[in-house]
Amino acid sequence: VYLGSRMKASPQLPASPSTAYRGRIAPTPSGWLHHGHAATFLTAWKRARDANGSIVYRDEDIDPDRCRDSYSIGAIEDLRLCGLDWDEGPDIGGPHAPYRQSERIILYYDTLKTLAQQGVVYPSPHSRKEITKAHTARSTVDQSPLFPSILRPAEIVPCDDPDPYIPWRFRVPAGRSISFIDGRTGQHSFSTNKDFSDFLVWRREGVPAYELAVVVDDHAMEITEVVRGEDLLLSTARQILLYDALGWTPPNWWHCPLVMDPETGQRLSKSNRSLPLHPHRLNQ
Ligand code: GLU
Repeated sequence: VYLGSRMKASPQLPASPSTAYRGRIAPTPSGWLHHGHAATFLTAWKRARDANGSIVYRDEDIDPDRCRDSYSIGAIEDLRLCGLDWDEGPDIGGPHAPYRQSERIILYYDTLKTLAQQGVVYPSPHSRKEITKAHTARSTVDQSPLFPSILRPAEIVPCDDPDPYIPWRFRVPAGRSISFIDGRTGQHSFSTNKDFSDFLVWRREGVPAYELAVVVDDHAMEITEVVRGEDLLLSTARQILLYDALGWTPPNWWHCPLVMDPETGQRLSKSNRSLPLHPHRLNQ
């Protein structure tokens, strides 16, 4: 339901909390924002504003090795300079605070516990070397190595207090096709054990992996549509399995096209050392 036109016709009518659009802007502060981020966040912002909905700003600073406070502050400044605003976030607060993932660890751990009690996650203390040695196949989608099923325990024992200082993986059911509708490009389907396999939900550093943190937050913050880059399509399939295991309803999905560097033809990314969105960051 597109609320925008209805709400304009009768502004005195409050939007129903169950149908009002809630979007989010969720940067990872591991570098300065580039034009690819700006394109995605602008789309997220515009879709929320066009629907007369609200938008949450969430700082995804979960990775202690890669994230820095200066990048967190810089992302807020840079997006404000682009004219974006939001209704809830680390710089303004709101009913779903805190908005920095590093301050929400207990919430993620509680969800890890729920998954461990169900016996759908297992400890996976294997080193990268062991995984590489045992690996047999690569994802048909992005060629990344699939986690070898030989390293999965034969039986997963449910437990009430998962050790937060070892990695935990979600057991992906074999032979399933995970389908979802992307609002922009239509239906996508991914096959378990061909396109992706058991994935990390918790890291040995005592923090959740991206897939778990983002699902817990999008659910807790009542996000109705996730807008993000097309490079995360496979993650959407993984996250749908987590929603399923937790008995939560997934949001709608909108994956934006990736922005390419006109000179190199590569997609913009921090690892490709893309130019920052605002030139004054070059000397920082
Ligand atoms: N934090 C992620 C990024 O900056 C986006 C995650 C998401 O939108 O789900 O790439």
